[in-house]
Amino acid sequence: MTCYSGSFGFKTAGMDDIHDITEQVEKQVEASGIRNGVACVFVIGSTAAVTTVEYEPGLVKDIQEALERLYPKNIDYEHHRRWGDGNGHSHVRASMVGASLSVPVKDGNLVLGTWQQIVFLELDVRARNREVVVQVVG
Ligand code: ZN
Repeated sequence: MTCYSGSFGFKTAGMDDIHDITEQVEKQVEASGIRNGVACVFVIGSTAAVTTVEYEPGLVKDIQEALERLYPKNIDYEHHRRWGDGNGHSHVRASMVGASLSVPVKDGNLVLGTWQQIVFLELDVRARNREVVVQVVG
C-alpha cells in the first residue's frame, strides 16, 4: 500500500464563495501515481467545507440560499457572544457540510458522475487563504 500526501492553496472572496476544485484534486491523484484506491480531500480550518454538486450557477445559488435558510446569519450565536467575530453561522455551516470528502480512485481517475464536481465552500465572513489537503491511499 502506498500513501501520497499533497495540497494546493488559493485565495477566496469570503462568504458564499464556492469553487470547483475537481481539476486540482485530479492533478493530485495524477501526481500520486496511485491507480486504484481512495482520495481523501480535506480542508484545513473550521469555517470552510467540501462536498460535491453539479457546478452550475443555479445550484451554486440554491446551496447558498439553503445554507441561509438552515443556518441563518442574522440570529444569535453563542460563538458571537464569546468571540465577537461574527462568524458563528460559518462554523455551524462548516460542521454540518463537513471538512472532508472521500472519492474512490479507479484506473487513475476519480470516480465521479458526469455532472458531479468536487466543490470547496468558503463559509467565513471574510476573504481567506485556504489550503486543501489531498491524501491518496492505494
Ligand atoms: Zn469564529
